[in-house]
Amino acid sequence: MGDTQIVIGSKTFPEGVALGFSTRQGGVSEGIYKSMNPDPRREDLIENVIENCRRLGDVVGFTPEDMVMTDQIHEDTIIKVTEEDRGIGLFKQIETNGDAFITNSKNVALTVFTADCTPILLYDPIRKAIGAVHSGWRGTAIDIVGKTVAQMSLEYGCKPENIYSVIGPCISACCFETQGEVPSAMRELLGDDAECSITRTGDKYHVDLKLINKLLLERAGVNKIEIIKNCTACETDMFWSHRRMGLQRGSLAAVIMLT
Ligand SMILES: [Zn+2]
Repeated sequence: MGDTQIVIGSKTFPEGVALGFSTRQGGVSEGIYKSMNPDPRREDLIENVIENCRRLGDVVGFTPEDMVMTDQIHEDTIIKVTEEDRGIGLFKQIETNGDAFITNSKNVALTVFTADCTPILLYDPIRKAIGAVHSGWRGTAIDIVGKTVAQMSLEYGCKPENIYSVIGPCISACCFETQGEVPSAMRELLGDDAECSITRTGDKYHVDLKLINKLLLERAGVNKIEIIKNCTACETDMFWSHRRMGLQRGSLAAVIMLT
């Protein structure tokens, strides 16, 4: 294995936030979680998970105590959090399930977990508000990212044109082979606009979830969109992939915090 890379960052976000997407490298976990698993919901040793979060935070610029986590359920519940919620997931019980977080509080590290699903981080430097979104294909089909942008506008007065967005490592069109239900759901949401993200091969389809989430961000009025190209299912020495590993794996964390 080459050099260890713990985190992939953004090349476009302005100052005022700490953010990053974890890889599977640079942690202390063993066995099927070797080595970077920051997800306490896996059956990994909690002391190793906390140390992994500490290492991740050392690179990105947060502490495990800053982190807020949830049980993601592929729906469109958006959880508004404040400083009082710091530590939920690692040190306090998760009480609210959802698939996206928003906050305008500093030192709250919004954390979503993925392993092929699409993570998206949002930042409005004018209103000083952030969001973190877990958008699997089901979440994409119900526009969780567009709803999160709308909620940031409602709660914090954000203007979509001021929001920076970054779409993180996820399963790409090369490996996301599906049955007809996925393209059907995307067509239902986007109409003809979905076609550019769908390729048919025989009786299967390949769907580009990054491109669909980009379209959804644009529809929500966001025009600052960075896409991290890595495919989690192609690069299995770098990322966890549910499609490649099933449940024999850790999770990737996407984290953002106002500093
Ligand atoms: Zn791939």
